[in-house]
Amino acid sequence: MNIILLGPPGAGKGTQARRLVEERGMIQLSTGDMLRAARSSGTAMGKRVAAVMDAGELVTDEIVIGLIEEQLEGDNGGGFIFDGFPRTLPQADALGALLAKHGATLDRVIEMQVDDGALVARIIARSTCGCCGEVYNDVTKPQPADGKCVNCGGTEFKRRADDNEESLKTRLLAYYKQTSPLIGYYYAKGDLVTVDGLGEIEAVAGDIKAALG
Ligand code: AMP
Repeated sequence: MNIILLGPPGAGKGTQARRLVEERGMIQLSTGDMLRAARSSGTAMGKRVAAVMDAGELVTDEIVIGLIEEQLEGDNGGGFIFDGFPRTLPQADALGALLAKHGATLDRVIEMQVDDGALVARIIARSTCGCCGEVYNDVTKPQPADGKCVNCGGTEFKRRADDNEESLKTRLLAYYKQTSPLIGYYYAKGDLVTVDGLGEIEAVAGDIKAALG
């Protein structure tokens, strides 16, 4: 089963994707994670995209489609979760063509809806475990007092360079201008299921499970 998790920054796509990886053996393909990895390993592409990412703008379709194309060459195990991709209509068309080339289909597009005010609050307070990616929130789920990640015991926590109010505004604008048209696109194709992304992680996971059948 191949699915897309679609939603604005802070909707909880990464958190829910990690659960699906653990529970269903699916493979998470996050273009944001791939781009951050390219940056930290200092590749030429990583250097090219750094300023665009920090500003909260979208990198070119060509770059992200290329990243996804490479990943689809591998074994898909329990299926792919596309997390943060596609983000534009040309990316959505390209994904359809790439899946078709591999004899695969897109089974569901899960739209995670979250109110804008909640997104800002979530993102500004967000940090993650540098080892396993467990997400913390300064208000609702502070980093453990003993300094050890509740999931893996890791002791390094990080905040994303683009999790600040200024680039968040640009990221939200990019979502509404460039990504939200995909909701109609996938609705028209009959692939879209909408879940409320505002609830507790468990509740959202339950809704996603129901949507996947
Ligand atoms: P994310 O981790 O998904 O929030 O992505 C972080 C940043 O990486 C975004 O703000 C963009 O600059 C870039 N990015 C990630 N995925 C895409 C994509 N599918 N298309 C364009 N830019 C992307």
